[in-house]
Amino acid sequence: MSKQDLLNTIYTEVAACRKCSLWKNRKNTVPGEGSINSTVLFIGEAPGYWEDIKGQPFVGAAGRLLDEMLLRAGLSRSEVYISNILKCRPPENRDPLPVEVETCTPFLDRQIQIIEPKLIVTLGRHSTFYILSKAGFKEVEGITKLHGKIYEMNILGLKVSVMPMYHPAAALYNAKYRSDLEGDFQLLRLELEKRR
Ligand code: URA
Repeated sequence: MSKQDLLNTIYTEVAACRKCSLWKNRKNTVPGEGSINSTVLFIGEAPGYWEDIKGQPFVGAAGRLLDEMLLRAGLSRSEVYISNILKCRPPENRDPLPVEVETCTPFLDRQIQIIEPKLIVTLGRHSTFYILSKAGFKEVEGITKLHGKIYEMNILGLKVSVMPMYHPAAALYNAKYRSDLEGDFQLLRLELEKRR
């Protein structure tokens, strides 16, 4: 099977998934989208209002900020892959429950194994915690301490560089987070240039 076929299989499974209760209120599942050959994989938290309506990740206000940040890194949306920890919107955009993360992340793990990114950018504490815990980090510190650095690790049989960043939604209303996020995307640009 081609990479695209493997991803399509996941999309079909996600669309039919009823493994946790989030299916009950969803309008659409949001499995993730983008270039299957992307060097960089962005992982957010969970779909919000607009993502649920459109079935695409990061298409609301946080998504517009993400697009702006991608430009800073010299990237466009079509050349990267964007996914989330959860594939369905939690009610009122509440935090993902541990049981939902446990139930849903096998889909994300498979996406990571298919795409084989060289760099994973975790947006916000949920995806950061998930990815760093996978690499054996016992205590995962807050983003304030973790962002702005690159962590080399082995996860799911892959050697990847992980860059934790603030979630764009947090940066929308906090000028300090926003300028930190801008700096982190600048760092991403430099890192990608080094690897060209
Ligand atoms: N916030 C996220 O974490 N993911 C989305 O897709 C949209 C908003």
